Amino acid sequence: MEETTKPHLVLIPWQGSISHIIPMTDIGILLASHGAAVTIITTPANAPVVQSRVDDRATPPRGGVGITVTAIPFPGAEAGLPEGRERLDLLRSPADVPRFFAANKRFGEAVARHCLGGASLPPCRPTCIVAGMCHSWALGLARELGVPCYIFHGFGAFALLCIEHLFKHRPHEAVASPDEPFDVPVLPSFECRVSRRQLPPHFSPSTSMGGGPLQEIRDFDVAVDGVVVNTFEELEHGSAALLAAATGRKVLAVGPVSLSHSPSLDPETMSEDARRCMAWLDTKASRSVAYVSFGSAGCMPPAQVMQLGMALVSCPWPVLWVVKGADSLPDDINKWLRENTDDADGVADTKCLVVRGWAPQVAILAHPAVGGFLTHCGWGSTLEAVAAGMPMATWPLFAEQFINERLIVDVLGVGVSVGVTKPTENILSASKTDGSKAEAEAEVGMEQVMKALERLMDQGAEAEERRRKAQELKAKAKGALEEGGSSYVNLENLIQSFV
Ligand code: UDP
Repeated sequence: MEETTKPHLVLIPWQGSISHIIPMTDIGILLASHGAAVTIITTPANAPVVQSRVDDRATPPRGGVGITVTAIPFPGAEAGLPEGRERLDLLRSPADVPRFFAANKRFGEAVARHCLGGASLPPCRPTCIVAGMCHSWALGLARELGVPCYIFHGFGAFALLCIEHLFKHRPHEAVASPDEPFDVPVLPSFECRVSRRQLPPHFSPSTSMGGGPLQEIRDFDVAVDGVVVNTFEELEHGSAALLAAATGRKVLAVGPVSLSHSPSLDPETMSEDARRCMAWLDTKASRSVAYVSFGSAGCMPPAQVMQLGMALVSCPWPVLWVVKGADSLPDDINKWLRENTDDADGVADTKCLVVRGWAPQVAILAHPAVGGFLTHCGWGSTLEAVAAGMPMATWPLFAEQFINERLIVDVLGVGVSVGVTKPTENILSASKTDGSKAEAEAEVGMEQVMKALERLMDQGAEAEERRRKAQELKAKAKGALEEGGSSYVNLENLIQSFV
């Protein structure tokens, strides 16, 4: 293929969360491995995350054009944000959230200047734009360029299908209380029972995001030409096709995108945290370790951290526990963590290894010593666990994670529910008017965590059946990205239909 005729896909990840940046970068890597030219546009503080993932990819770009990472300044200061606050997890309080969205609008104007060729910039003309879910400005840009615009939400197809159903049929408005479970009947053979409290922020516009941005996101979602989803068609019981039928848009399942990487185990290039985790896992017996992580920024109230921690140090399995936001935990909890776990020097006989930084999750899930994953059901983590054939214990925190839990436990049969009923407050779900952090109680007691871990790590028939199903999905996940597989074909479709 001549370079001039190559499709050029411009990917603009939603910079609000690292968990959106990671899979969109991986999509870029997969598209380049199929021979497309790819530009990933992000902000300066996030560009190193993208560039290091691009450098770490498993396969070289076909045709040698590869991936350009472009950093466009984030106009945070103009919206009243301090320098460098280019992701939601870097904000100081819920009051900064509207400023972040205001800055994102200006960022969109700067991206448009870049793509259309401003006075000082060479144009970056795409044949297709794939934009993160909050970049509603990308649609106008795509229309101006006369190219298709795809959206990437970071959610799975089942969750997107449920969200579509909720928007259209509004079953949550028919229940009397926020805790009353109701069904979201999107798959013929399964119930999806959730409560209003457990729904994503789209359905509670009193959050710190406010109704304005939420409505803009919905309008964008409805108007785009198609949806790119990090999933594979064989996984979610036809959800991608049902979503396409329900919305009239193309839905392209192109995952699991984490398979664009083979986890790097080179001690020379690994971070100190990663080295510590992998060296510790190497000393553990096969499938003996419970891995516990709540995503890129998932935090819990201090009382809940204590209940979880007490379960993790007293259960019979070695535990690798990733703790985010430890700096904002009270001193007594940090003291307890230091005294009861190893969170500094990583000695081989430690029962519970705590990582306060960034854990190499994909490599951890692929390690033979890991036997189960206690997860918050973020979609990135869910799909990484599926790709690794790993059974899960589910502890959703917020967003669409309660819906993902239903998929993992009831539909796929690869998870055990911890039994959380209420979402955990975060910077987006905090009330618009009251930014103060409520002193939340622990909903889940130590015994409840222990019970879920016992079922997850057990050797009995029920647990073995979950493991068998998880291994079956792992094989299907790998097959989807191989030549002729469903995700492989969808990547080709995304590239070829717009040449
Ligand atoms: N992740 C990681 N190390 C960490 C924490 C998170 O590699 O210490 C990665 C994880 O592998 C996944 C992403 O961050 O790719 C988290 O995405 P997910 O959708 O699961 O959750 P979110 O961060 O959006 O809550």
